[in-house]
Amino acid sequence: MPAPAPPNRATTAAKIAANPIGYKVCEGCDSIVGSGAVLCPNCHGYRFEASAERVIHQARILGAREQTSVTAQDLG
Ligand SMILES: [Zn+2]
Repeated sequence: MPAPAPPNRATTAAKIAANPIGYKVCEGCDSIVGSGAVLCPNCHGYRFEASAERVIHQARILGAREQTSVTAQDLG
């Protein structure tokens, strides 16, 4: 039987994209935080974009970042 995949950015991003209502995007640093957060844990910003469209868009960027990081560093 297949081993469960370890949690990683892509898995987290997929989970976020499947449930965008539970998250929002920080307008200060583009971090994805839980919808109940008052302050961004990353930059302490308090302005958030909570639209599902924005959350899914940001989740896709988050998920793609890990997959392309090695290539990007090789090219850089
Ligand atoms: Zn932030």
